[in-house]
Parts: sequence; structure tokens; C-alpha cells
Amino acid sequence: MPVDLDQLVAYTDELLQAGRFSDYCPNGLQVQGRPRVQRIVSGVTACQLLLDAAAELAADLVLVHHGFFWRGEPQPVVGMKRRRLGTLLQHDLSLLAYHLPLDAHPELGNNARLGALLGILEPEDLDAGSPESVGSVGRLPEPLRAADLVARLESLTGRAPLHIGDPDQPVQRIAWCTGAAQSYIGAAVAAGADLFLTGEASEQTVHIAREEGMHFVAAGHHATERYGVQALGEHLAARFGLDHRFVDIDNPV
Ligand SMILES: [Zn+2]
Repeated sequence: MPVDLDQLVAYTDELLQAGRFSDYCPNGLQVQGRPRVQRIVSGVTACQLLLDAAAELAADLVLVHHGFFWRGEPQPVVGMKRRRLGTLLQHDLSLLAYHLPLDAHPELGNNARLGALLGILEPEDLDAGSPESVGSVGRLPEPLRAADLVARLESLTGRAPLHIGDPDQPVQRIAWCTGAAQSYIGAAVAAGADLFLTGEASEQTVHIAREEGMHFVAAGHHATERYGVQALGEHLAARFGLDHRFVDIDNPV
């Protein structure tokens, strides 16, 4: 049985506490499609390939982590933006997007899911100096060679992470934040982490890691942010009796 779009959006906004975050984009319903929803297609980013796949799969709603209307981007609806919006409007597809609220949710969030998949216990907030920061710090059940943790990540994500540090050294206290959180490396040092894991790296991140004597791993922005939106899609499908399919659009970054 389809659910009302309004009901689905209100439920999800509440679940993720979407109003609590001051974010770089609107969280929640970004583009309104047909009033009833039976089929959800989820993906990391509302890129053209994902929207085309959703239309092909006759979805009613596209659920993403990276939606549209980012702060500072050009506003005119031309070119790429026109094509993406055109696909949604032409197929009467809704776009439902959650950025920081989906990073931060304690069970369904990107950070929580990645930590759970890696077997990290007792996660606490990593204080990166902002109320909206979403990093975590926790511990592995026992010390693990850094290379073994990197191998675990590689088999999970299907891509080889960048690792700075001695592969044979043991690590146990792990700080992590999915996506582009390389600037939180100072917070990971302050939290006494053995290793800091995020999606992306900057040039200076490597020097900071070396000089602070902390392992650093960049496992991919896309690769580390695949898990929250899947967990949310599965949750909504189970809650409302909907169809859900996650579509992974390859992205090497
Ligand atoms: Zn991201």
C-alpha cells in the first residue's frame, strides 16, 4: 500500500531531527513529486545517473545523502541543474535529501553504520568544535594491526584506502567521520586516537598525521557514505511496507 508523501516526509524529518541542524543545504523534501509513494530508490548523490535509474525503475521518490541547492552554488536553473530537475519533474519524482542529519543519526547515520560495520565499540562524539560536527571516537575490541583494519575497510568498500602510517603498528582507539572530514584530524589527535578515518584527504592532512604520530586513512567520500542512506531506505520500506532499492553509482572519490 502506498503511503502519502506528506506522511513519509514528516516521519523522516522527525526521525532524523532534520530541523536541529544548520546545514549547507535544505534537509527534507527538496523536490515534490506525486502525492503517494510506493517505490523508493536511494543513492549517495542525486546525480543524473541516479535520477535516470530511478525513472527507469519507475520509482516514486529518490532518497539521497547529497541532494541539491547547496549554499553558495549558482542559483539559475540552467545546464546540468536544469537537466537534473527536468528528469525529476518529467517523471513526477520526489527528491528527499538529508545531509548532516543522516551523517549524525545514532543508528541509521553514515557514521554509526560505518563504525558498526568495522566493529568499533562504545562510540562517543568527537568534539570538532562545532555543534553540528558529526565525528565519533571509539575502540576496537582488541588492538589490530593498522594494515588489518585497512584490509577490512578495503573488503567492505571495494576500493583500496589511502593509509598514512606504519602498517604493522597496532591501533585500537579509532576516530572516524564519513565524507570530507579531513579537517577534523586535529580533533582526532586531541581525542587521543591511534587512527583517524575519513573519506577524503588534503595535502596537509598527510603531514599532520605524520607529525602527530597518528595513522590516517582516507577510504573514499562516496565509499564511506553508502551505508546511511541504505539503512534509512530499508527502515522506511519496513516501516511503511514500501519497495526500496539502493542504486550505487560508481565514484572513485
Ligand atoms: Zn558527503
